[in-house]
Amino acid sequence: MAIPFETTFDAPYEEPVRVSPLIRRLLARNPSPFTFKGTGVTIIGKGKVAVIDPGPDDPEHLAALRAALEGETVTHILITHTHRDHSPAAKPLKAWTGAPTYGFGPHGSGRSEHGIAVEEGGDRDFVPDIALRDGDVIAGSGFTIEAVHTPGHTSNHMCYALKEENALFTGDHVMGWSTTVVAPPDGDMGDYLASLKKLLARDDAILWPTHGGPVRDPKAFISAYLAHRLEREQQIVESLRQGATRIPEMVDRIYVGLDPRLKPAAGLSVLAHLLLLTKQNRVASSGESGFAARYHLTT
Ligand SMILES: [Zn+2]
Repeated sequence: MAIPFETTFDAPYEEPVRVSPLIRRLLARNPSPFTFKGTGVTIIGKGKVAVIDPGPDDPEHLAALRAALEGETVTHILITHTHRDHSPAAKPLKAWTGAPTYGFGPHGSGRSEHGIAVEEGGDRDFVPDIALRDGDVIAGSGFTIEAVHTPGHTSNHMCYALKEENALFTGDHVMGWSTTVVAPPDGDMGDYLASLKKLLARDDAILWPTHGGPVRDPKAFISAYLAHRLEREQQIVESLRQGATRIPEMVDRIYVGLDPRLKPAAGLSVLAHLLLLTKQNRVASSGESGFAARYHLTT
């Protein structure tokens, strides 16, 4: 099943755009193979507003964000997760506005209480003032937001439901333009699949990923997303069956024609699948653990 990606999204850089009665978005100028056109900062409400994923700590972006919030009182700063394109602007935004920051916890916090090494790209400086848990509700001025914990892309990933519009801000958990990167050790494929199923059981009318445009048929899209992961798992099992033992070999067999800049991320996604298959005793490894190990099927 092909995923119905939406790749025609376009918006002006660093200018707020109203996209619904309660939602404005500001596109940061940080396009890349991981961020699509850039980070879409979300501003919710009027007069007293919440900001979701304030974005990168970049001078042009911070100036634009400040201008976009002129005349508003920021009451909440929410973070979906601690990647460098999402959370670093929370610190200067908090300094201007005094608004508290909200999120599941610091980078890696969903993974281990003691902290373990996590992948590149993590914002290790962000610590929320208020640590949210699944189901927590934030009452704003004219808006109500529910926290939906969705570990997988990162262990501390949160989606946020805007009740008044039956809308869900999905961060990088579900992206309309691409699949998401699940990079161990902080990313976890078992958690990721469970978090997709969690969204499938909800009744959100629209999804707003942080990158790209909205997803207007959530159930069909998430079903295709799940099917894609199962297909990928099947391809990995098949390449093991054909004698591939190392991750780079599997990437070359499976991701034909991939942008070379995305190969390391593809390798980490393959690793995430292999770790899940290992946990399920369908695959075993020998030699060094993790990326450098040799893998084989157990049956
Ligand atoms: Zn991310």
